[in-house]
Amino acid sequence: MIEIDGVHKSFGALHVLRGVSLKVAPGEVAVVLGPSGSGKSTLLRTVNHLEKVDAGTVAVDGELVGYRRSGDVLHELPEREILRQRTKIGFVFQNFNLFPHLTVRENVAEAPLSAQRRPKAEVAETVTRLLLRVGLADKADAYPGTLSGGQRQRVAIARALALDPKVVLFDEPTSALDPELVGEVLDVMRDLARSGTTMVVVTHEIGFAREAADTVVFLDEGRVVEHGPPGQVIDHPQHERTRAFISRVL
Ligand code: ATP
Ligand code: MG
Repeated sequence: MIEIDGVHKSFGALHVLRGVSLKVAPGEVAVVLGPSGSGKSTLLRTVNHLEKVDAGTVAVDGELVGYRRSGDVLHELPEREILRQRTKIGFVFQNFNLFPHLTVRENVAEAPLSAQRRPKAEVAETVTRLLLRVGLADKADAYPGTLSGGQRQRVAIARALALDPKVVLFDEPTSALDPELVGEVLDVMRDLARSGTTMVVVTHEIGFAREAADTVVFLDEGRVVEHGPPGQVIDHPQHERTRAFISRVL
């Protein structure tokens, strides 16, 4: 469960998020659409406290992210508490961010071994299961540099799942891929969506949004202009800006 409530974020004079609220219930998939610069990545980054909010709150799994409340005052959590919270939040980036000097297996095993200190044998089992799930069992000992973009992104998804997160955030996971590799990544994401993973996905893949999203959110200039089921926001947008955007990306 994700609860974003009245979040504001500025970079200097640039007011990027202007009171964004969004709830994603357990097992739901929210797709965030919006033009370049509208604040989509910034919004995702506030969810795991990679960006500190200026106002408003974010909670994941019922726990305030980045802060502890005492009375009316919020105190920022110490770094190690924030790191602990981040283990509950998987993040898949546009550019994979794999460790080039580690094999596929080692990339996926890294966080559970170092951040969670789980036993090696148990982690090995998890890694095997996850690589099967993303269709890369045969690439366990390969290095990222020898993989296609689609394969790398599937490793990145397996890595994000390795900590058994409560939610998984995706920031344009297919936009750096050659068109013929997009489908294999979306297939893995559809599988996750169907199996009840709570997800927030920033993407321009309208087909994915139609099939997999419970809620589509249209963000423009740091505000949620429109949100609702895909049949409403994509097929019957109420606002001119949503209409213009959808017609550009369809
Ligand atoms: P895109 O579709 O191009 O990825 P976006 O919707 O993800 O765009 P953001 O990356 O959230 O947009 O950026 C929103 C605005 O905030 C942009 O104008 C961007 O230049 C600015 N911005 C983002 N991060 C920073 C930062 N760390 N410092 C200063 N400005 C930033
Ligand atoms: Mg972005």
